[in-house]
Amino acid sequence: MLNIGSHLSISNGFKAIGEQALSIGANTFQFFTRNPRGGAARKIEQSDVDGLISIMQENNFAPILAHAPYTMNLCSAKAETREFALNTLTDDLHRMEYLPGNLYNFHPGSHTGQGVEKGIEQIIDALNTAMFKEMSTTVLLETMAGKGSEIGSRFEELRAIIDGAKFSDKIGVCLDTCHVFDAGYDIVTDLDGVLEEFDKIIGIERLCAVHLNDSMNYLGCHKDRHQKIGQGAIGLEAFKNIINNKYLSNLPFFLETPNEIDGYAQEIALLKSMFGNV
Ligand code: FE
Ligand code: FE
Ligand code: ZN
Repeated sequence: MLNIGSHLSISNGFKAIGEQALSIGANTFQFFTRNPRGGAARKIEQSDVDGLISIMQENNFAPILAHAPYTMNLCSAKAETREFALNTLTDDLHRMEYLPGNLYNFHPGSHTGQGVEKGIEQIIDALNTAMFKEMSTTVLLETMAGKGSEIGSRFEELRAIIDGAKFSDKIGVCLDTCHVFDAGYDIVTDLDGVLEEFDKIIGIERLCAVHLNDSMNYLGCHKDRHQKIGQGAIGLEAFKNIINNKYLSNLPFFLETPNEIDGYAQEIALLKSMFGNV
């Protein structure tokens, strides 16, 4: 079975988001833990969370993916930005325990001129402060396009973060198809080669989720502009290969394409029709 969902808004609560996922043919979803531009997170009602948990159990949901706000930059040159990011990460990881055993994804960060090495050091320090032994969440580093001073566009950088993390057994990777393509990994003509490289450098067992996005731009452009599935430079045939690949086909897939809810429902139906059908 294809485990697939899309990014959805949590504004009506956890139970409502589970119902919305079902209504578009999804068995998982991604949501922002708080406003993507930052700020306080809404209060969690236990009854609302319980409503989602029963929907997930009754409908065989794959793990769901919480996404940290984009403003969470653990390796900014500005101390107050780093402090805000650490507070956000710490609070999010504690809140995740309302939904035990799921996934939390974040952008490693932008070093804003400090250099990659310094940035990686700061990301490791933050993870080692915020993560805790009893947590049941798997924290995912997202592969990035390498826009500006973003860290995480090379597999080696993600590996360095994992190597420095105290709780590395609870750390995995979320592969974003638009981002890796924009970073220069050719998943269109050499998907197997890219995954072999991932395995060699990071270890394929660390790969826990995939963001499915086409790209508006060309291989290696370092841009990060998502496009609808099949309408960008990656193309439909490549997505068919991706969802059916032996290393990927059991993972949860999340659409972050420029769509409203109907568009997501159509893309989910399209991808399901191409699954198990190589
Ligand atoms: Fe992301
Ligand atoms: Fe993404
Ligand atoms: Zn992106």
